[in-house]
Amino acid sequence: MGMVDGKSALVTGAGAGIGRETALKFATEGARVAVSDVNVAGGEETVRLIASAGGEAFFMRADVSQAKDVDALIKQTVKAFGSIDCACNNAGIEGVIAPFAEQTEENFDRIISVNLKGVFLCLRAEIQQMAKSGGGAIVNLASVAGLVGFAGLSPYVASKHGVNGLTKNAALEYGKAGIRVNSVCPGGIDTRMLDSLAEQSSDGKMTSHEMLDPMHPIGHIGMPAEVAELIVWLCSPRASFVTGTNIPVDGGFVAQ
Ligand code: NAD
Repeated sequence: MGMVDGKSALVTGAGAGIGRETALKFATEGARVAVSDVNVAGGEETVRLIASAGGEAFFMRADVSQAKDVDALIKQTVKAFGSIDCACNNAGIEGVIAPFAEQTEENFDRIISVNLKGVFLCLRAEIQQMAKSGGGAIVNLASVAGLVGFAGLSPYVASKHGVNGLTKNAALEYGKAGIRVNSVCPGGIDTRMLDSLAEQSSDGKMTSHEMLDPMHPIGHIGMPAEVAELIVWLCSPRASFVTGTNIPVDGGFVAQ
């Protein structure tokens, strides 16, 4: 018996990294999965991986910063599965690293529009749907950068603190409607995004492992599957009394 047997799940940004691993974990734990991303090839590959492991999934392209894309994605998921029981709002970008005084308006707007407005649009549409169908569970991807500051990453830090705020508000407004909302706050996780951050901040001289392993008390960065484990558990009935939390999954990073 899987943790989310018989449920339907939606994952944004599921064409790579943490989102792909989360979609796979939902499927192996018994859910049917709507896989979404702006990267069509990546999303289709995730669906192929789920199908070859014996699961059920479909892909739909949606840019989370566009309300019409998000609304169409929710509609299509309900059409395919009848309801949305679990949702993981994972899509996000890192943008450009720069000191605060050199941050551009364009970089700020782009990061806020995908990371913060994207989560707002997804949450709003998912809550509307879940309230109609009697409830559900939602997990947003924040970051340790949603709990503490990071030099060079001010728009990203602002977006992730915002995601943690939206998470609390949605949880307190819709708890009685049977909707639980939590966020996860990963430390460094071995994905393309972390490679980009390491490359930008070391001018290509250091890998993400060389730069970030020593910053984690556990001695190394994490893997996408270690985040997916927490996300799917939070979406499952096993987490029935957990809502409104911003949970680190960070090898001890914010304990320092
Ligand atoms: P990634 O770059 O490997 O994957 C992100 C996915 O999101 C990609 O497939 C990309 O195409 C998709 N995406 C980007 N913009 C989109 C948009 N507008 N609409 C829909 N999809 C879009 O990154 P990742 O490391 O897997 O990150 C996933 C989430 O986890 C992000 O929200 C990120 O901020 C967060 N996070 C990552 C780390 C880390 O160390 N990797 C740490 C903390 C938080």
